[in-house]
Amino acid sequence: MAGEPQPDCLFCKIVAGEIPATVVRKTERVLAFRDIAPKAPVHVLVIPHAHYPNAAALAAEEPEIAGELLAEAGRVAADEGLEDYRLIFNTGAGAGQTVFHAHVHLLGGRPMTERMV
Ligand code: C5P
Repeated sequence: MAGEPQPDCLFCKIVAGEIPATVVRKTERVLAFRDIAPKAPVHVLVIPHAHYPNAAALAAEEPEIAGELLAEAGRVAADEGLEDYRLIFNTGAGAGQTVFHAHVHLLGGRPMTERMV
């Protein structure tokens, strides 16, 4: 069923507490934890507990949770003292997605004024 935990999904295992992560925020439907390979002084991943392969699928199936993901990312940014930050949704292997459970990267704490492409 859509949204059910997937046995081979790394982020489902983090949600279940089977793989350790440095959690910075947890709500009923959303989890935020520090990226294991940070690309900026603050690099947090914000994910839904439910399994969807990417953010677009999440937004299509569960728009309310997709909204919560953004709201929680904003709260984490505020907790981290960030006024300026970048949110990234890699979608598809060709775009650099390596974990196929919806997530948004929150990056901040250094200048990010370089062009995206
Ligand atoms: O967008 P993408 O799928 O590439 O992002 C997955 C992210 O998950 C990577 O930035 C990687 O460092 C992170 N990761 C993690 N903890 C793990 C495995 C991967 O934070 N145990």
